[in-house]
Amino acid sequence: MKPLSFALIGRSGCGKGTQADLLIKHFGNLLYISTGGLLRDLAKLETAAGKGIKKILNEGGLAPDFVIIGLWMRELCNNLGENQGVILDGAPRRVIEAQAMDEFMDFLNRKDAFFPILIDISREEAYGRLTKRRICKECGKLIPWVGEFKKLEKCDACGGELFNRPDDNPEAINNRLDYYEDKVVEVINYYKDKNRLITVNGEQPIEDVFKDILKAIK
Ligand SMILES: [Zn+2]
Repeated sequence: MKPLSFALIGRSGCGKGTQADLLIKHFGNLLYISTGGLLRDLAKLETAAGKGIKKILNEGGLAPDFVIIGLWMRELCNNLGENQGVILDGAPRRVIEAQAMDEFMDFLNRKDAFFPILIDISREEAYGRLTKRRICKECGKLIPWVGEFKKLEKCDACGGELFNRPDDNPEAINNRLDYYEDKVVEVINYYKDKNRLITVNGEQPIEDVFKDILKAIK
């Protein structure tokens, strides 16, 4: 059997990271790709591109497509094992990224084992979750505003103090949600037009979202 790969898409706050963790626990051997993490690593380099990306990140701008795709490809070419799947957390966010990933999966002859999954929550729900979610001061773990997590008073990973992220202010949140309507919806339509999109209701308990994902990929 071909190794399964996933792309988790959805509005900020839909629980992509949580479902990514559950998929990794369930399937074990998945290469986790976070575009944000790759860009932050690049920004630490004293290279021309490293400096350029650092500036963009500091100003809250958007990294160019070719840098994002280039970082994915480097990661995939260097690290993806023969019997290992990929999990893209919160990507693709632009159609050109979706096309690049399709071509890569085609190259590996794995396109039929690649599942784009939309974790669907309304804009209102996303806004509510984002204004209330918290982050750990010590380890940086993001604590979503859903289910049992609402009750946490300290970080469940390290016991650190929890606070609201400075970039989770109303203006920044609305910008992120606008970007979703503007660009990510195009990605959703790209997969929908090809009858490949799996949509699950993200406004239900975490374990039910996960059950629906497993049911859909069977
Ligand atoms: Zn922590």
